[in-house]
Amino acid sequence: MVKRFVDLIKTITIKTMIKFLDLHKINERYRNEIDAAIKSILDSGWYLLGKETEKFEKEFASFCGVKYAIGVANGLDALIISLKALGIEEGDEIIVPSNTYIATILAISANGATPILVEPDIDNYNIEPKNIEAAITSKTKAIMPVHLYGQACEMDPIMSIAKKYNLMVVEDCAQSHGAIYENQCVGSFGNCAGFSFYPGKNLGAMGDGGMITTNDEEIANKIRAIRNYGSFVKYENLYKGMNSRLDEIQAAILSVKLGYLQEDNEKRRKIANYYLENIKNPVIILPKISNDNEKSHVWHLFVIRCEKRDELKKYLLDNDIETSIHYPIPPHKQNAYMEWKDLVLPISEKIHNEVLSLPVSPVMTKEEIERVVKIINEYEQK
Ligand SMILES: *Cc1c(COP(=O)(O)O)cnc(C)c1O
Repeated sequence: MVKRFVDLIKTITIKTMIKFLDLHKINERYRNEIDAAIKSILDSGWYLLGKETEKFEKEFASFCGVKYAIGVANGLDALIISLKALGIEEGDEIIVPSNTYIATILAISANGATPILVEPDIDNYNIEPKNIEAAITSKTKAIMPVHLYGQACEMDPIMSIAKKYNLMVVEDCAQSHGAIYENQCVGSFGNCAGFSFYPGKNLGAMGDGGMITTNDEEIANKIRAIRNYGSFVKYENLYKGMNSRLDEIQAAILSVKLGYLQEDNEKRRKIANYYLENIKNPVIILPKISNDNEKSHVWHLFVIRCEKRDELKKYLLDNDIETSIHYPIPPHKQNAYMEWKDLVLPISEKIHNEVLSLPVSPVMTKEEIERVVKIINEYEQK
């Protein structure tokens, strides 16, 4: 009787929706450790910038291979504070990819500086180093490469250009925790790098969180002050700072989850490789790894392209597969940036019209992964 019931449940689950991202299932794997982490903060009575934040900062710095990591409230703040600490101000121009999540661009605007949009490489969706040089003017102060969808940018040419023109580099690592470019972890190349621990990221908190990494001691100290009202000593304000601190509870949870990040990234890589080898449909363009090193991609998102993207999305949903679009509207077409309304960026626009993100979360079952492939391979574009 019980066995028959279990079998029935199994048949039902096989037919249910394949979620794009099941955060409950992701965190449930660590329930005991997370429970203990939360309890320890409750017991300690210390909630902000304490032992847990310090511990997690040290662990994260070591994970990235950098000297300093400073916890902040979220990924956007990590980028805003990085630019602020490096002295970016009104009138400065910052080079940024035209196809990124809006946060990268908002961080530049928040400092009064001007974002200069540069088109990506259509094959790997990251900023095209060749297009950077043409965008440099006497006002250019920094380049902000975004390791989009989890894939490390071409850091060699980017760092060479930065050196040649004496520009700073601030990496946006919000989607790429643990991605390796030529034996070096992202977040360790530039003057500063910003990470996000938004719940859906490869390393996600249970709320908001962010981190800045740097090898520069002076900048690290300045960042520590800026995140806490510009102050080292309580009620003495050295800088016009912000309130952007990492909670002890989030730090304790993230410290638990950091221990499993490599394993999860490996699971994502396995799913991605299975998709790459088995999805065979002439109307689908699969993502490309631009670097020989497999670890250069941590597959935050598995992004395919299809001319009739919206139709494909509907077909997949009709077949119980959730997908997502990263992103439907390019930054230069957003109402928030009316100044760019006449700007034409064909590569970005093509990408935004055609991309579709398939589920690639580390808790997917073998059956789910196989079903995604089967259903996609059966798709016929009308
Ligand atoms: C998520 C994200 C951010 C912002 O992080 P939050 O923690 O949500 O503020 C910045 N840049 C990119 C590319 C992101 O994906």
